[in-house]
Amino acid sequence: MVKERARILVVGGGYVGMYTALRLQRNLKGELRRGEVEITVVTPDPYMTYQPFLPEAAAGSISPRHVVVPLRRVLGQCDVVVGEAESIDHATRTATVTTLATGEEKTGARRVTYDELVLAPGSVSRTLPVPGLADHGVGFKTVEEAIGLRNHVLEQMDIASSTRDPALRDAALTFVFVGGGYAGVEALGELEDMARYAARYYHNVTPEDMKWILVEASGRILPEVGEDLGRYTVTELRRRNIDVRLDTRLESCADRVAVLSDGSRFPTRTVVWTAGVKPHPVLAATDLPLDDRGRLTCTAHLSVDGAPHAWAAGDAAAVPDVTASEPGRECAPNAQHAVRQAKVLGDNVTHALRGEPLDTYAHTYAGSVASLGFHKGVAHVYGRKLKGYPAWFMHRAYHLSRVPTVNRKARVLAEWVIAGLFKREIVSLGSLEHPRAEFELAAGGKPSQDPPNNPKGSS
Ligand SMILES: Cc1cc2nc3c(=O)[nH]c(=O)nc-3n(C[C@H](O)[C@H](O)[C@H](O)COP(=O)(O)OP(=O)(O)OC[C@H]3O[C@@H](n4cnc5c(N)ncnc54)[C@H](O)[C@@H]3O)c2cc1C
Repeated sequence: MVKERARILVVGGGYVGMYTALRLQRNLKGELRRGEVEITVVTPDPYMTYQPFLPEAAAGSISPRHVVVPLRRVLGQCDVVVGEAESIDHATRTATVTTLATGEEKTGARRVTYDELVLAPGSVSRTLPVPGLADHGVGFKTVEEAIGLRNHVLEQMDIASSTRDPALRDAALTFVFVGGGYAGVEALGELEDMARYAARYYHNVTPEDMKWILVEASGRILPEVGEDLGRYTVTELRRRNIDVRLDTRLESCADRVAVLSDGSRFPTRTVVWTAGVKPHPVLAATDLPLDDRGRLTCTAHLSVDGAPHAWAAGDAAAVPDVTASEPGRECAPNAQHAVRQAKVLGDNVTHALRGEPLDTYAHTYAGSVASLGFHKGVAHVYGRKLKGYPAWFMHRAYHLSRVPTVNRKARVLAEWVIAGLFKREIVSLGSLEHPRAEFELAAGGKPSQDPPNNPKGSS
């Protein structure tokens, strides 16, 4: 039983937002039924994205609908509001929220008051002022980007197959990925594998015609799996003819030419930017304390330091790592911490409402798994190092066990089994981004390039 009626506002419906809300609706079942507690989740999309599956979605091994979890279904006891928090004034316990409806009604943002705030907007791509990047680059953080990239790669193969211009063909078949963390390496590994397979069905495009380039500013890739496996990954990618350039930066991609710091130039129509993340900019529109990297300063109880009734975790939060041997270390921004922090966070909000003592977040990093394409991978988990097929199998088993809901697990498993029995899908459905083009042509109008009713410009 809580002391007073409490309105809990959860900002963000990703790992932290969804798992915290799940925990709260389980812990506070009785209070929710009696109307003593109300939980509102504000998030721009009505789904949580299981980001570790994005590379497989890009490769076509998992359908886009199965890498996301419908929030309205799993958060049956919460109010899910599809919208964005634009600013938060914690002093007055008020968030300013825009929704699809406020856009249509032109009434301006809505003010939402709360008693407890869980702030979990995650991170956004960390870009640099590289000329041409804003115009030609694409990130790899959302399901729209992953599917858009898959369609784009296949479309480039179609362009290369049908053009008579050798320069256009060369640019279409050159794919540049910037950043050698798991997002970049897995995205490149899976897409190259998919394109290599698709090339079997083209009469005039072979895997040798394609140039896949990985540009990494430091001297190593995949720091998450350790130095040895990082070195092995470089060797494995190079064996597949992927051009891995360490200690190299992208200096420009203006005019669709990727210029690298080692002086090389690659005309290309594809620049994928996965060079790290930074905390979500909405954090700067709050009156809550931020560290020098723009993350919310948190305690090991996952409360925002010095701001009673404000809580945070995940990529947006600087959480002390109490298991580290050196003092002052913080938890890395990854799903492993985000999921576990969300559980402690949900429990601590419950404890706070009931006047109970808070739990401390303590988790020793267990290691990482990464897929490099079909039957290829690396894994470093609990001190055990695996390569190739065993690592890939472990990657799949681990993520299958982690993806939320039995429904999603069953669907993903079914897709893997079917993909193992039949041939892989190789069509580009890029035209889905322009669903009215055919009708506009029939109606005698000029087909527009912008997808209708889609502010993100993606399918
Ligand atoms: C391609 C890829 C692969 C990855 N693979 C792994 C892996 O193998 N292992 C691993 O441990 N980690 C992995 N990660 C990292 C992991 O996904 C993140 O660390 C994790 O998602 C962080 O959780 P979060 O809740 O803080 O943020 P997110 O899960 O990103 O959730 C943030 C949510 O907040 C919403 N939001 C943003 N702004 C607002 C606003 N103004 N108002 C309301 N809502 C807002 C967003 O739309 C989103 O729903 C991967 C990441 C990527 C991109």
